[in-house]
Amino acid sequence: MNPVCQACGQTFEPEPGFYFGAMFISYAMNTALFILVWVIYSYLTSNFSIVTLLILMGIASILLLPIFFRLSRTIWIYIFIRFDSKAKAD
Ligand SMILES: [Zn+2]
Repeated sequence: MNPVCQACGQTFEPEPGFYFGAMFISYAMNTALFILVWVIYSYLTSNFSIVTLLILMGIASILLLPIFFRLSRTIWIYIFIRFDSKAKAD
């Protein structure tokens, strides 16, 4: 992760532990993913197995971890800091 934005100069670590809250965004995204996997698996199979469902949820979660990690941090910083294209010039 870059220390500052190359476009506007905004620091990506406004304070220590800033991204702790991104964990809750990630939690919500993983919950939505689990529901999606559950619904898709329920439609595609005739003999439902909770073990298979948990394995599929684990695989989906691990595969999407790099995306969810970055996306949750991006959403979290967007909640508090607005993009200002002229900030570097000021
Ligand atoms: Zn920026």
